[in-house]
Amino acid sequence: MINSLSPNFDARPEGQEVDILLMHYTGMRSGEAALERMCSAQAKVSAHYMVEEDGRVFQLVEEKDRAWHAGVASWAGASDINARSIGIEIVNPGHEFGYRAFPEVQIAAVVELARGILSRHRVPAHRVLGHSDVAPSRKEDPGELFPWGELAQAGVGWFLDLTETGETAPSGLSLGDRGEAVSDLQKRFRAFGYGIDITGEFDLLTEAVCRAFQRHYCPAQLSGVADAKTQGVLAAYLDKAPFRD
Ligand SMILES: [Zn+2]
Repeated sequence: MINSLSPNFDARPEGQEVDILLMHYTGMRSGEAALERMCSAQAKVSAHYMVEEDGRVFQLVEEKDRAWHAGVASWAGASDINARSIGIEIVNPGHEFGYRAFPEVQIAAVVELARGILSRHRVPAHRVLGHSDVAPSRKEDPGELFPWGELAQAGVGWFLDLTETGETAPSGLSLGDRGEAVSDLQKRFRAFGYGIDITGEFDLLTEAVCRAFQRHYCPAQLSGVADAKTQGVLAAYLDKAPFRD
């Protein structure tokens, strides 16, 4: 662990426990550039940790403090995600600068780091999330190449192998659709944790939430269309979910 302390943090609210672990990619041309930005007082952004592509781990903010990584965000009805989370920035150029696979040595370092964090804080598996989950309209990270299944197998997060899952819906829903089927879909996304309004219209936010869900839980379906398979996967997660623990 390399200490590279950032000035960009403040205290967590009194008595606030950590119950979310949030994964990001840096989305910059290099890890050095990301580190420099997160340590610059002008930028006002940070994370607790950054993991380089070669597996080196940098600590920028102490876990007891609130790092500034989530921005405007929402999960399960809460909006101050920074207050209750630990943020890990994983070096990758991201969709803007050449999104690429995360090297094995980097993922191994993320797993080891995350397991340590989970041993120190009570974070349920279903609250190990991506930035795109809590800010679906603005963010795509850590993206569809992030190996959530591999992490889950190592005890980090929640990922079901649903390759055999059937299709629960008679047909897909997409941008512009309206009606009860859309309201029901929005209610299910909301029950899962996404910050979504029940409007009965498959609007831009619904599309963004659908895409965020696909990126994390069924990346092969990534389209923003709530196709029958995606709806089947969502139903399977809701069936098994310990959401109200
Ligand atoms: Zn992010």
